[in-house]
Amino acid sequence: MSELHGLSAVELLVAQDRGEASAAEIVQAHMARIAATDERIGALLQVLADAARSRADAIDRRRAAGEPVGSLAGVPLALKDILCTRGVTTTAGSKILKDYQPPYDATVVERLADADAVPVGKANLDEFAMGSSCENSAFWPTRNPWDLGRVPGGSSGGSAAAVAAGQAPLAIGTDTGGSIRQPAAMCGVVGVKPTYGRVSRYGLIAFASSLDQVGSFARNVTDAALLLEAIAGSDPRDATSVHAPAEGMRAELDDGVAGLTVGVVGEFLEGEGLAPSVRDACRRAVDRYAALGADVVDVSLPHAPYGLPAYYLINPSEASSNLARYDGVRYGLRVDAPTTEAMMAATRDAGFGAEAKRRIMIGTFALSAGYFEAYYAQAQRVRTLIARDFEAAFADCDVLVGPTAPTTAFPLGDKTADPLAMYYNDIYAVPASLAGTPAMSLPVGTDDDGLPIGLQLMGPLLGEATMLRAARALEADLGLEAAPSGVGPLEAEGRT
Ligand code: GLN
Repeated sequence: MSELHGLSAVELLVAQDRGEASAAEIVQAHMARIAATDERIGALLQVLADAARSRADAIDRRRAAGEPVGSLAGVPLALKDILCTRGVTTTAGSKILKDYQPPYDATVVERLADADAVPVGKANLDEFAMGSSCENSAFWPTRNPWDLGRVPGGSSGGSAAAVAAGQAPLAIGTDTGGSIRQPAAMCGVVGVKPTYGRVSRYGLIAFASSLDQVGSFARNVTDAALLLEAIAGSDPRDATSVHAPAEGMRAELDDGVAGLTVGVVGEFLEGEGLAPSVRDACRRAVDRYAALGADVVDVSLPHAPYGLPAYYLINPSEASSNLARYDGVRYGLRVDAPTTEAMMAATRDAGFGAEAKRRIMIGTFALSAGYFEAYYAQAQRVRTLIARDFEAAFADCDVLVGPTAPTTAFPLGDKTADPLAMYYNDIYAVPASLAGTPAMSLPVGTDDDGLPIGLQLMGPLLGEATMLRAARALEADLGLEAAPSGVGPLEAEGRT
């Protein structure tokens, strides 16, 4: 058996069933891996060593006593630090919540506990999930395990890097406009954003509420689907959660793609910003679908090119409203000043980073009287048109494909001075976010520098099972399901 930190979640479950490894040994192996790698990568803001060990021991005791254990028993997992964990510091990557200890667990955290998953750390992110490189974290930038001079993507960069580096086989991320898919692509792992409403947002620190969605990272499709099944399902505490059964994500995994219609999104493969290596890898993936018996057709999402401007109005508008709650009174940081207003201003000035301030200003402007119709309302109309584009495309197709991001991982510092260049990363990700449809990134190869490339797959609303099936078929065909991802490069460079 290869080292425990190289195994998938399913393999770890099997190893425990066979008595080949205990949950305690598994957790220990991942703690060692974290210790060996995270000083250089910086994926985790906090390592939950004691809690993880005692949870693992409890699982081992229950197993030994013949008691039932959950679907993810003993499987280590990294949690994006934007999900509330009771009594455990939850920062959202922001100074304003630096010492915030939530009084309750997010529903996702509760469900993971019910499944007996073992959270090993809270993963770094761009402040309040605003960003595409993890460089907007108030604490430190996470580095890409494939090349430590490059970003892991964002905003769930810590989650993606943790999985790529073998610190945990699974991680939870959130995706508002690509924040699971883009870092998954850049770190060579699988990342799934489910349908809006599939997974409860209760206890998820709000960013842009009509877009925010929790999802999964893993090193293969089966693991990612397994994790989704554990966290999905309606929740009376989240009025936007959908009433659809959580099970069934894996129902079609091994069905192959013969008979499926795969739509290739034309708008995603044109355009100047797309790196030729990414375009070529996506084209090759499309050819494999045809070879595997899928019906491959060209489709158009005519309004998708307007997605980015619409997203960057809707998102800051909702963010400006959500971030109004950080006033120095109720949560987190307070900078004292003689009057309440001065205290609030000083708190927000000291507590928020540049990107959060930028979004608060853009959003406040877009929502203000006299401009609301021209900006926010207009962006919502574009959103409706994009949702209709998807509906029309899914009348003919089972799944749509295109690149996840226009480029592979870029060097640290490359785009920090140019917010628009940073936003451009999200160009292919935001249409599915605006439409609310499920979408994911699957590793399909590497570029000339050996950096991972992600193919984006998009399914119709609640169509995760078929999307995952199409992803699984390609993964099996490419033989990438056991890919140790960044673990290899890290070791090859003698860094462990
Ligand atoms: N990069 C996008 C943004 O900054 C997406 C963020 C996300 O999905 N959380 O808004």
